[in-house]
Amino acid sequence: MTHHAPFETTPAMKNVPAMLRVSGLRPTRQRVALAELLFARGDRHVTAERLHEEAVSNDVPVSLATVYNTLHQFTEAGLLREVAVEGAKTYFDTNTSNHCHFFCESDGVLMDIPTEGLRVEGLPEPPEGMEVSRVDVLVRLVDKSA
Ligand SMILES: [Zn+2]
Repeated sequence: MTHHAPFETTPAMKNVPAMLRVSGLRPTRQRVALAELLFARGDRHVTAERLHEEAVSNDVPVSLATVYNTLHQFTEAGLLREVAVEGAKTYFDTNTSNHCHFFCESDGVLMDIPTEGLRVEGLPEPPEGMEVSRVDVLVRLVDKSA
C-alpha cells in the first residue's frame, strides 16, 4: 500500500514560488503552474510538447512558445537539465544530477540509467587548457528482432 499525500499539500508544491525565487526567477503564475506540473511527481523527462499538453489539460492557459521559454529559463537557473536526443527533440530532466539515459527509439521514452556500475573508459585527454565538464551517455534501444 502506498500513501501519497494529496497533490496540493506536498511540501514541494508549497515551496514552488520559493524555489523559483531562490533560483533567481520571479514566480509568475505561469512559471508556478508549469513548475508544479514539472516537479510535483518526482523525477521525470518531458518534452516541451508533452508539458504543453499537460498544461492545457490542467487548464493552465499557456502557449507552446511560453512553455519552451520557461523550460529554457528553468534550465539556465539550474532547475532542469537538458537532454538532447535528436536535433529536433529535447527532453528536460527534473533530475539535474550527473546521470545517463536509455532512449527507446520506438516510443521515444527516456529512462535513467543508474550511475552505479556504469563506467566510461578510455576518454581522450581534453585539449590543452580544457577540462571535461560532463560526459553524456545516451544508450539507444530498439525492440529485439524476432
Ligand atoms: Zn534523467
